[in-house]
Amino acid sequence: MIDLRSDTVTQPTTAMREAMLAAPLGDDVFGDDPSVNALQDKVAHLLGFEAALLMPTGTQSNLCGILAHCQRGDEYLVGSKAHTYRYEGGGAAVLGSVQPQPINQLADGTLLLADIAAAIKPDDAHFARSRLLTLENTWNGQVLPMDYIKAATDLAQQRGLMRHLDGARLFNAAVFQAGVDQSDPYAQARRIAQHFDSASVCFSKGLGAPVGSALCGSREFIARAHRIRKMAGGGMRQAGLLAAAAHYALDHHVERLALDHKHAARLAQGLAQVFADSDAAKRLGAAVEASPTNIVFVKLPNEATTALLDHLKAQGILATGLIGLRFVTHLNVNAEDMEQVISAAAQFFNTPHLTRTA
Ligand SMILES: *Cc1c(COP(=O)(O)O)cnc(C)c1O
Repeated sequence: MIDLRSDTVTQPTTAMREAMLAAPLGDDVFGDDPSVNALQDKVAHLLGFEAALLMPTGTQSNLCGILAHCQRGDEYLVGSKAHTYRYEGGGAAVLGSVQPQPINQLADGTLLLADIAAAIKPDDAHFARSRLLTLENTWNGQVLPMDYIKAATDLAQQRGLMRHLDGARLFNAAVFQAGVDQSDPYAQARRIAQHFDSASVCFSKGLGAPVGSALCGSREFIARAHRIRKMAGGGMRQAGLLAAAAHYALDHHVERLALDHKHAARLAQGLAQVFADSDAAKRLGAAVEASPTNIVFVKLPNEATTALLDHLKAQGILATGLIGLRFVTHLNVNAEDMEQVISAAAQFFNTPHLTRTA
C-alpha cells in the first residue's frame, strides 16, 4: 500500500525502535523518567522556551495550552479552519468553558490583521474576555510568512492577548524556510516559536514517532499545564519509551522533511499535468492546490472524489476525501511511489467509463 492519507501513518524505523528499547525508564507521574525529562529539556531548549511537557497527543497539548492561558468566560481567537477550532471536539469550550472566537481564515492560512483587531473585545460585561490568539503553522501545508507571524503576534501582544502556536507541523515550516534562506532548520523553528508564549509540536506526524506531542512555554505556564494534563487523564508512567522515539525523531527526522516536500511537489506537478492533458479532468474542474511542504489538495466534485479514491485504492494507493481530497507525503513513501500515484491518476482521468460515473 502507498498510504498518503496522512503523515500520521508512519511506522517507527528499526533505529527508532532500538532507541525506544534502550531508553532508561521511570514513573513520570513521580517526575522520575529520565528519558521523558531529557526530551522535555531538549524540546524546550530547541524552541527557546523555559520548559516543556510531553503529551500523548496534539489535541491534549493544545487543550492544556488553551486552558493554561484562559479561565472560564475567557475566549481565544482562532482561525475558522484551524485544528484548534474545528478538529478538537470543541474541547476548550466543553472542558474549560473557554469560548472560541473563530476568525475568517484565508487560503494561505493567515487571518487578516484587521479581522483579529476587530474581534478583540473591549473590557465590558457584555463580552467574553479576549485572552489568547492561536495560530497554526503549517496549516494545510501552507507556511505562514515570518513577517506575518511577527505582525499578528505583535498585534495580539499590544492588545494584551497571549499567543499560542499550534505547531503540529512546525518543523515542516522551519525546514521549508531554512531551505529558502540556507539556514539551520532548528534555528528557524526557534525563530518562529519565539513570537509565541506557548507552542505545541507533534512528534507523531512527519517526524515519524508512534505517539506524542510537546507543549512548551514558561516554567510557570508549564506548571499550570501539568496540573491540567493530569486532570485530562494525561499523566503517563514509563512514558520514556515514547519520549525516546520522539527524541530520536528530533535528532534524525527533521532535515529529511525536505524530501517529503520534494515528493509532494513532484506529485502536485504530475497531477497538474494529468489534469491539463485530460478533457474529463477539465470537464470536472479538477485542480491541484499545492503547498510548499508535504500536503497536496485536489479540487474535484464529491462524486468524482469518491470514484478516484476507489480507483486509487484498487491500485494499492490510499488518500483521504474527508476534508477535500488530500495526499500527504511522509517517510514511508518514496519518489517511485509518487510516479505510481501520478500514473494511476492519469489512468483514471483518461478512461472514459471511470470518469463518466463521476
Ligand atoms: C494532528 C494535528 C493536531 C493534533 O492531533 P493529534 O491527532 O491529537 O495528535 C493539532 N493540530 C494540527 C494542525 C494537526 O495537524
